[in-house]
Amino acid sequence: MNNKRPGILFVVSAPSGAGKTTLCHAMFDKFPDLRQSVSFTTRPMRAGEQDGVDYHFVDHGCFEKMVQAGEFLEWAEVHGHLYGTALSTLQRAATQGADLLLEIDCQGARQIRNSLKDAVCIFVLPPDFSELEHRLRGRETDSDQVIARRLANAKDEISQAHWYDYIVLNDSIEDAGQHFASIIEAERCRTHLWLEFLKHNFALN
Ligand code: ADP
Ligand code: 5GP
Repeated sequence: MNNKRPGILFVVSAPSGAGKTTLCHAMFDKFPDLRQSVSFTTRPMRAGEQDGVDYHFVDHGCFEKMVQAGEFLEWAEVHGHLYGTALSTLQRAATQGADLLLEIDCQGARQIRNSLKDAVCIFVLPPDFSELEHRLRGRETDSDQVIARRLANAKDEISQAHWYDYIVLNDSIEDAGQHFASIIEAERCRTHLWLEFLKHNFALN
């Protein structure tokens, strides 16, 4: 959290298995003031996941009620399950001037790009499809059927990468982490975020 400039909304997408969660966790470790958005989902909980930490796990009926009540900033069906970002998460971060990081799919990212022009959209790319499959299998969290579905969707997702602000190639995790961190640091120095600070501290218009 900071009180010198407005908070930034970072939106991160990748095909499943590219290493988005691994990279984002590295960013939360490196930048303790970077806030994680916890999405709502109807997907069943995986081994090792915690409700309220990895996701808010809800049933279909509850998710639909939230949609009807207009409680989502964005939501989408991904790999057969519903996922959404609560508007209240964004509002809380904005009020507190916190930088917020959303890990969401391309459909949700597009909705945000269309409504919030200042959002910083980052796409994480795997080196190639065979490495993507290798990582999905190595994670040992999904069945063969789920993996096949995620691989089938990967091509469509990668075809969206061109409109993101940044692409982080996750070949070496160390290099990718450095590139990701550089993006965060550079975005925090963008002039338009500092105009109020300039005005207030240096009496400039
Ligand atoms: P996503 O969130 O994009 O679905 P994960 O972060 O869960 O992907 O990563 C998928 C698997 O690939 C995990 O087992 C993770 O440890 C591994 N992984 C992530 N980045 C790399 C990398 N650069 N090289 C090798 N394995 C990686
Ligand atoms: P997973 O089931 O592997 O955790 O996530 C599957 C996909 O859903 C990923 O591409 C992830 O980014 C996306 N996702 C997670 N939360 C949200 C969300 O709130 N909104 C949207 N649109 N996608 C999400």
